Amino acid sequence: MRMSKTFVKTLRNAPSDETAANGALLTRAGYIHKEMAGVYDYLPLGIKVIENIKNIIRDELNKIDCQEVLMSTLQNPEPWEKTGRFSDQEVDIWFKTELAAGGELGLAPTHEEPITNMLKTYVKSYKDLPLYVYQFQTKFKNELRAKSGIMRGREFLMKDLYSFHTTEEDLDKFYAKVEQAYANIFNRLGLGDVTYETFASGGIFSKYSHEYQTILPVGEDTIYYNGDKSLVFNKEVFEDDVLAEFGAKKEEFEETRAAEVGNIFKLKFKYSEPLELNYVDENNETKTVYMGCYGIGVSRVMGVIAERFADEKGLVWPESVAPYKYYMVAIGEAGTKLAEEIYAKHADEILFDDRAARPGEKFADSELMGIPHRIVISDKTLADGAVEISDRATGETKMVKTIDLEGIFL
Ligand code: ATP
Ligand code: MG
Repeated sequence: MRMSKTFVKTLRNAPSDETAANGALLTRAGYIHKEMAGVYDYLPLGIKVIENIKNIIRDELNKIDCQEVLMSTLQNPEPWEKTGRFSDQEVDIWFKTELAAGGELGLAPTHEEPITNMLKTYVKSYKDLPLYVYQFQTKFKNELRAKSGIMRGREFLMKDLYSFHTTEEDLDKFYAKVEQAYANIFNRLGLGDVTYETFASGGIFSKYSHEYQTILPVGEDTIYYNGDKSLVFNKEVFEDDVLAEFGAKKEEFEETRAAEVGNIFKLKFKYSEPLELNYVDENNETKTVYMGCYGIGVSRVMGVIAERFADEKGLVWPESVAPYKYYMVAIGEAGTKLAEEIYAKHADEILFDDRAARPGEKFADSELMGIPHRIVISDKTLADGAVEISDRATGETKMVKTIDLEGIFL
């Protein structure tokens, strides 16, 4: 992308009501625009980060045979009424709307009911199972408070995966595969060493669920971890009797704040029973389908990464999610000529700051935007046959001979 050709501009100030660091930084760096509390627009650079996060998730889920769909946001109340979840007393974050012809609709905060209902059309026999279906979709939640930037939206992007099985053992087996896939995903997102699988409260059909919690001072959750971080509990289940089950004691744990970036649940019959998602087994007997569900907050992950790695100069993206790998600045005539040649070949990887602005201004923007590597091509360094490449995260700068330059793009 050429900076001269985009409307994206860095801003000196974020909106005065933007209290979260991720929201303020992402706004100032030109990734998002705030519509109102908890509601954000994603600008060209912002979409690129979102797409990079989605592609990492997609890649790991496809490896374990998951199939992607895109379900509707508008919700027919019927299946939700069968599980009792259309009620505002049961689910207190619904956005609801009316049809012009009369009748209430909901805007989906999650999709257990519609996907269970949809699969009644396709799942008839044990031969149709197991099945793993996921989507990336905009969800709506009428959150009471939305002060955490894109980490808590009233409209936000979630990946939700649902699995369907004939037996509990098969559900357990797939659950373990998702745990591995999630470990891979958070590693690739650059959050692996600060994200822990955490015991949280389960529900009717299983004692515990798991959350993926990223250590973050401004996170909304409180978690407790032991010395080697092999046991991590959400505050809601950090009780003596729970710990006793794991042979642990409260005094072995440290407390910290964290942000929930994902969660996984063994739902078993929670939704398949009331919605009658059944199959016929080998003996022609009708049985209820076992289910699991697995979420990742895609837009929250972007906010958490922004928040987690930022420094006093601005954002610092891990390479795997950065909108561009390189930020290129040219100084002088020969510098500009070479920069144009490089850009012609590697436009996909480069944010080319070709604006008529002072180099100092460009350097500051490259730091605010958090692009992993900055290439400065100037007449002065070209005299030595070299360009300067610096690393945003470490601040290290090195000179690379122009004859070696092609190598860095490989
Ligand atoms: P939370 O405990 O943070 O309110 P939740 O447990 O209700 O979230 P789910 O509805 O199960 O979350 O959503 C799955 C994932 O989507 C969560 O783990 C989180 O990462 C993300 N998420 C949930 N609510 C929001 C929100 N309002 N804004 C952004 N991301 C969210
Ligand atoms: Mg939660």
